[in-house]
Amino acid sequence: MQSPGTLHIVATPIGNLGDLSPRALETLRGVAAICAEDTRHTRQLLAHFGLERPLLALHQHNEDAQVAQLVARLQAGDSLALVSDAGTPLVSDPGFRLVRAARAAGIRVSPVPGACAAIAALSVAGLASDRFAFEGFLPAKASARRERLARLAAEPRTLLFYESAHRIEEALADMAAAFGDERPAVIARELTKLFETVLDGTLAQLRERVAADPNQRKGEFVVMIEGAGEDADAQVVEGRRLYAKLVEYLKPSQAAKLAAELSGAPRKALYGGD
Ligand code: SAM
Repeated sequence: MQSPGTLHIVATPIGNLGDLSPRALETLRGVAAICAEDTRHTRQLLAHFGLERPLLALHQHNEDAQVAQLVARLQAGDSLALVSDAGTPLVSDPGFRLVRAARAAGIRVSPVPGACAAIAALSVAGLASDRFAFEGFLPAKASARRERLARLAAEPRTLLFYESAHRIEEALADMAAAFGDERPAVIARELTKLFETVLDGTLAQLRERVAADPNQRKGEFVVMIEGAGEDADAQVVEGRRLYAKLVEYLKPSQAAKLAAELSGAPRKALYGGD
């Protein structure tokens, strides 16, 4: 009987093509087909390295439907690779269902590690990195986003978020409301690319920097926030959580007044306005 193939999970660059490892290239060259999030994008990447392999589309919208066929193919002896548009597959990218199904079917799933924006950003941020919490993308809906952030206000680990150009300003505003203007943070933008920038400061300072310079709103971002100190003021944390919820229904000044009353936190710690 034919022995099953291997599913290789291959990281690709997050900008600089020099970050595709020799082993990644060798693996991509050796598989029967490559599952890609966007086949056009991956075809261009392969072309840059003079490689041409059969490509199969595996994206968020067809992953469920594709998984059974791909597992059957692996069981029949074909080795496959999975790549995403950038960085490490499955990290805020498709592939989780395929990996789970392949493992359940007893297929060998083997990583070819490489670039990951979150880890690259953490490595240059100068924030505590012994423990950190990767939060991926925040919800698009403002109320859900604020709720998520409010729940993280007391998190002691360094927090990592992925963010896109069109929401960076809103996200920073919501982060400052949830964690306080003074919380230290770092924004890593366009890592490994021409306009790579790493900015640090308090959330208020970073908001100002980004608001003042349109260039700082372009490209791809990892936002990292220092964790709350172990002695974080529980009343203020609770007050901010309440404020984030109440401000959906009340004026900011009213929400702050009520949140302060309910939590016992000073109103000024919850809202900077009048
Ligand atoms: N799988 C990828 C990884 O391993 O990093 C992440 C894919 S996710 C769909 C794309 C997000 O990653 C972007 O919106 C941005 O937040 C972050 N990102 C990707 N490339 C980046 C870069 N060069 N610099 C900063 N952030 C980046």
